[in-house]
Amino acid sequence: MPMSTLLVRNAELLVSMDGREIEGGGMFIRDGWIENVDHSLDIPAIADEIVDLSGHLVLPGLVNTHHHLYQTLTRAFPGAQDVGLFEWLRTLYPVWARMTPDHVRTATRLGLVELARSGATTVFDHQYLWPNGSRLDDQIEGADGLNVRFHVSRGSMSLGESQGGLPPDSVVEDEGAIRTDTLRAISEYHDTERGAMRRVVVAPCSPFTVTPELMRDSAAIARETGVRLHTHLAETEDEEEFCLENFGHRPVAYMETLDWIGPDVWYAHSVHVGDDEVARMGAAGTGIAHCPTSNMRLASGIAPIGPYIAAGVSVGLGVDGSASNDCSNLLAEARQALLLNRLAVSPGIGAGRQMTARQALELATSGGARVLGRDDIGILAPGFAADFIAIDLNRVEFAGALHDPAAAAVLCAPTRVDHSWVGGRPLIQNGEVVGVDTGLLVERHNMLARDLAG
Ligand SMILES: [Zn+2]
Repeated sequence: MPMSTLLVRNAELLVSMDGREIEGGGMFIRDGWIENVDHSLDIPAIADEIVDLSGHLVLPGLVNTHHHLYQTLTRAFPGAQDVGLFEWLRTLYPVWARMTPDHVRTATRLGLVELARSGATTVFDHQYLWPNGSRLDDQIEGADGLNVRFHVSRGSMSLGESQGGLPPDSVVEDEGAIRTDTLRAISEYHDTERGAMRRVVVAPCSPFTVTPELMRDSAAIARETGVRLHTHLAETEDEEEFCLENFGHRPVAYMETLDWIGPDVWYAHSVHVGDDEVARMGAAGTGIAHCPTSNMRLASGIAPIGPYIAAGVSVGLGVDGSASNDCSNLLAEARQALLLNRLAVSPGIGAGRQMTARQALELATSGGARVLGRDDIGILAPGFAADFIAIDLNRVEFAGALHDPAAAAVLCAPTRVDHSWVGGRPLIQNGEVVGVDTGLLVERHNMLARDLAG
């Protein structure tokens, strides 16, 4: 590939997320990497391609740190709309058990398109059940041709109902087969390079769906191969009771007994934790995926984000699966994080320390990058990948809010981005994902969702 240069300029406001906010900002990009970020007059004026972003807010691409893309097939599912986590899962497991490789491929693609339209440029997905011959390869295929950085997981469940776990035996796997396929997925798809488009994560589902042996084995595999570890943890009170009853520990302490804490680990949710547990997670360098909408939707509780940040825990945002959020909009999730935090700070966590719009954007960008272990995305600075989004400020939702365009992106109605680039190549142009016939995709996805509901 020949070297190519891209110049974007004249942004109304460019927010780098490393402390700079530049009116009339621009970037000079070579071969997908940022070389200059500055006022448009102070960067090179000639490039192979020049894009004028007058009237647009420019931000780093957003990073989603927790999702279950297959759940786009079971949004607003009757019987799972008004219940807590365990009943929600018991309702949906038998439906998900009918998924085929085609369901996995199509749902992956649909969810990635929806997230990209909301500003996501990097997506982690936590897939933990593989019925009817579906494989991680189906997700890779579903993302084919989409210019999104995609971190897939070889997730798993092995503790079925007959062994005291929550899921029916029909959706759990043999632990030997999980190990073999996990090693295969890592060797086939994990890219360690800076600028990687595909990475693999080892991600057993949760304490109530996986045996302690599989948790330990997963940690060993991840450390042998140098990939990251992820699981759901301390999401609900039901889970806490399960851990105390079955393992004699609260969730965080249980993970510590399994070597499942450290800078290569991040948990989803982590709502039900005490001050000492927050401190231990911070000292270990463990991260969390904060999923405020899902926590509200399932009435799980409010994660203590202020204390996490104060303790040095890396915090990113996750829209979580689309059966417990029903939408995959990452800008909307930043707004939810801000609003939910305002409820949490009063009275327990410290009045006057409300999460700001810029802090919410930080969680959605550089925070998420840290959680995924990436030092090449999440901010706009020389040496970083050219992953960025542009939002046209001239729209109904932002009218009257242009005193502060960066805050408007979080405080005003959640919107879609107009353009985005990943590695200097377009992902979204004029609001649509490049190379995708959205109408056809929605039609096929709806057909498969109907078929799954039975
Ligand atoms: Zn989840």
